[in-house]
Amino acid sequence: MVNNIELTETSLLINLKCPECGTIHNTAVINTVCINETCRSTLFAQYNLSTGINKAVLQGRVATMWRYKEFLPVTDERHIVTLGEGFTPIIQIENLKQFTGNNEVFWKDESGNPTGSFKARGISAAVSKAKELGIQTIATPTAGNAGGALAAYAARGGMKAVVYMPKQTPKVFKDECHLYGAELVEIDGNISDCGKLVNEHALLNNWFQVSTLKEPYRLEGKKTMGYEIAEQFNWQLPDVIFYPTGGGTGLIGIWKAFDEMEQLGWIGSKRPRMVAVQSQSCDGIVKAFHAGQYVSEFADGGFTIANGLRVPKPYADKVILKVLRESEGFALTISDEEMSTALKEIAKYEGMLIAPEGAALWQAYKKLKATQWIKPEEKVLLINTGSGYKYLENINI
Ligand SMILES: *Cc1c(COP(=O)(O)O)cnc(C)c1O
Ligand SMILES: [Zn+2]
Repeated sequence: MVNNIELTETSLLINLKCPECGTIHNTAVINTVCINETCRSTLFAQYNLSTGINKAVLQGRVATMWRYKEFLPVTDERHIVTLGEGFTPIIQIENLKQFTGNNEVFWKDESGNPTGSFKARGISAAVSKAKELGIQTIATPTAGNAGGALAAYAARGGMKAVVYMPKQTPKVFKDECHLYGAELVEIDGNISDCGKLVNEHALLNNWFQVSTLKEPYRLEGKKTMGYEIAEQFNWQLPDVIFYPTGGGTGLIGIWKAFDEMEQLGWIGSKRPRMVAVQSQSCDGIVKAFHAGQYVSEFADGGFTIANGLRVPKPYADKVILKVLRESEGFALTISDEEMSTALKEIAKYEGMLIAPEGAALWQAYKKLKATQWIKPEEKVLLINTGSGYKYLENINI
């Protein structure tokens, strides 16, 4: 027992592994993607999960994602940069039951996170680990929310943030970057264009980049949603989880958490079916899923009110598609008009002003229920990834 108590003090991180070529990377140094030029894959953090650590250790812990600190990458707790992210509520649909019938449908509501989205989780983990590794300047391309989160956590951690954002993003997302003291660069293009420029400028200026899934620890922060879903549902996972897919970090992270918890003996082998929801404007994953392909094509149909979903080609598309297939899940698109209608419906009847990305899930749920892909009595979880307040500029009220 003494041993167990000692182990709960720190991270159980062992190393980073490439899922494609198996190369192991040392976590004591700065990592991005796999060093093997032929794969350049996202790296996955591995932990010592055979310690016999009991889930009872969670009792009485802080109500943030850092309650799962053994499965997060920070070795010395003094490096944790936190603003209270995570441990968000699960809220059942109550007044729109004419649509849900005999399903129990819940929101995992991420809107109350610092800076108003679940990006806070990934960025808290990445900034903390960067601090531990002595990094001073962090740069990112963003569709909006990641930039604000990076700006805030860098401010908190005493570091410098450089954010590249498409010009077309609502003004609030830019204002918050300025207020948090970040350097904001507006780009005439989409997030891929921002990504290319960050890459060039980071090399020249010696900035560290935390672009989605090209840095290993944002995934670890987002993974904590999976731990929370299990803990908050009393270790019985729901039957279906809907996820608004941009770069796919949350989807991949939740799946990784389920695997880790099974290895820990905290949950069984039952898994939810994972549903990726994209905007009609960027539908690469949906197309690849239905065509039976293992990689996606570049897809950008232009502006969408769900800026978080305007990701023309997710870096980890292969992993997203693998999770969808392994889970016997599904993928579908939702139009801006449908998102806007759903956002208003949820606000008016449920009292929640959710992000258009989250609203897309409500519409997607109704569609899959109508086709009977969702079965009676199934328990369904929709991840509302952000607050609607930042998007009002583009909502016709
Ligand atoms: C970034 C973002 C998404 C997409 O998340 P990924 O992890 O990139 O798939 C969805 N919703 C909101 C509100 C976001 O900010
Ligand atoms: Zn590799």
